[in-house]
Amino acid sequence: MITPWRTHRRRRTRPRRRPSAASDAHYRAHRASARAVLVARVEALSAQHGFTYNRIAIRNTLTRWGSCSSRKNINLHYGLAFLPPSVRDYVIVHELCHLRELHHGAAFWARVAQIMPDYRTHRRALRAYAPHTIVRMTHMSPHEDFGIGA
Ligand SMILES: [Zn+2]
Repeated sequence: MITPWRTHRRRRTRPRRRPSAASDAHYRAHRASARAVLVARVEALSAQHGFTYNRIAIRNTLTRWGSCSSRKNINLHYGLAFLPPSVRDYVIVHELCHLRELHHGAAFWARVAQIMPDYRTHRRALRAYAPHTIVRMTHMSPHEDFGIGA
């Protein structure tokens, strides 16, 4: 699970309980392309690194970038498709590693580092974004390039 960074901007960027109308419209406009990009990346990275999962759900209702359940279901925020490819892939690798390690202990981070040795850089970069601010990135369209190791 990855919770968005909240410190000094806490009040302004507090997530809404439900997506706003603007956010919902943005999601509806982009969900098909976002889903295509994200599912392709999950499939490529899991094939490359030998992960097996059950289902992938792409949503707009999450206040997190992603989560992974003990039933091996992966949930991703559609807004990940709007992030820089390396940051997006970090989140996907993070959730894939939870298929094996359902915690944030040393074994988990060792697994992440094995796949993505520079993950700390991308993890830091992720802190500039929060899922519920994606709607403000109206100038952006989903990244369709295929980032690292594809
Ligand atoms: Zn996590």
